[in-house]
Amino acid sequence: MLFRFRGGVHPDDNKAQTMHKHIEPLPPPEYLVLPLSMHSGAQCEPLVVMGDLVFYGQKIADSAAPVSAPIHSPVSGRVEAVEPRPHPAGSLVVSIIIKNDGLDTPDPKLSPYGSVESLTPEELLSIIRETGIVGMSGSSYPTHAKIRSALGKVHTILINGCECEPYVTSDFRLMLEAPEEVVGGLKVLMKIFGLGSGIIAVESNMHIAAESIRKTLPRRTDIQVRTVPARYPQGSERQLVAYVTGREVPAGSFPPAVGCVVFNVETAAAIHRAVTTGLPLIRRVVTVSGNAVSNAKNLLIRIGTPMETVFAATGGFREAPGKVIMGGPMTGVAQFDLKTPIVKGSNALLAFSRSEVYTTRDRTTCIRCGKCVRVCPMKLEPIYLYTYERINRCDLLERYRISDCIECGNCSYICPGRLHLVHSIRTGKQKLAETEGRQ
Ligand code: SF4
Ligand code: SF4
Repeated sequence: MLFRFRGGVHPDDNKAQTMHKHIEPLPPPEYLVLPLSMHSGAQCEPLVVMGDLVFYGQKIADSAAPVSAPIHSPVSGRVEAVEPRPHPAGSLVVSIIIKNDGLDTPDPKLSPYGSVESLTPEELLSIIRETGIVGMSGSSYPTHAKIRSALGKVHTILINGCECEPYVTSDFRLMLEAPEEVVGGLKVLMKIFGLGSGIIAVESNMHIAAESIRKTLPRRTDIQVRTVPARYPQGSERQLVAYVTGREVPAGSFPPAVGCVVFNVETAAAIHRAVTTGLPLIRRVVTVSGNAVSNAKNLLIRIGTPMETVFAATGGFREAPGKVIMGGPMTGVAQFDLKTPIVKGSNALLAFSRSEVYTTRDRTTCIRCGKCVRVCPMKLEPIYLYTYERINRCDLLERYRISDCIECGNCSYICPGRLHLVHSIRTGKQKLAETEGRQ
């Protein structure tokens, strides 16, 4: 049974600025900034010190923690410093700064691992860990940890090509231009999970991407390409699983609870590249868009490239931006320092003009319209979460199920009072975690 999720919104997709733009490689900059935390879980420890020479693709940081992912140098060059630098999440994070020598001298240890057929599931899983692959749609959860936690519980693998955030077309272009990499990644995952089939889900308004993938598949295949309705947040894992399998992931659980596991399309492509070329995760596709950008593009960018270099490659700003966001406009994070680098989860970099960005002076109070409740796909009451966060009632935040919020941003988007609902909810989650940590 297929079913539509409750709530959801239809924001202007604003994808026309970039959906026809081919992915262009951006030359690496003179200096790259690699934060030791670019993933959920434990921060890495540096394996290099100031003055060390590093190769292209060399591992430069790692952690023994079960949920973490190693970091590799995206260029060859010299380590200039290991020091705190601005991170896209808004804090200062210890980072490895590398001066690029412009040679891209590869790490002699890099080589293809072999064919998928010749490698065991455990070897493939080890490659995914060693190459530092994380969820590339923004979650940045280490992929090896996600797989390990789902092993033995899963009968359906879903590759998520539902890029439902406005403006963002990086996954769409990847499916059009490198469909064989997406399919190749799915085949690796099928082998690891011991499954004979898999599903690639694409939104109906991106049907040419679905066609592109179908063309790479043999006539007889157990890989299905499914189109799903274009509605925000269709790309959220829970909503996608519900639509494709008819199974609702219980509150407080993850897709393996209903036998499913979901991976982003660029994550799948990175898995394929890691196995077939030995290359770790050192680059990604980023949509650079927004009406303050002179020439919106999809760029293939080395991880660690500062945002200012990326915007310069699009011809700079048409006008001074009122707001810069890393990620999509619904779930992305506002940026305040253009020296902040692109990280593994950066699928988009958006710059909006002042006229497009409302200010706090525009903000009004709640008019009790109830729209935020109607659009919430998790059946929450965002206005109460907002209110209880502001008065520090962690007991009520818990009772009103704040941890079930998937931070899709629908409530903030729809709110006529322009209340910063998601921001409050994120803060409320932190307050609740701190309270629980004290108990
Ligand atoms: S409360 Fe959370 S899940 Fe519900 S609409 Fe707002 S951001 Fe989305
Ligand atoms: S959408 Fe905004 S104005 Fe309407 S009830 Fe929710 S918080 Fe209040």
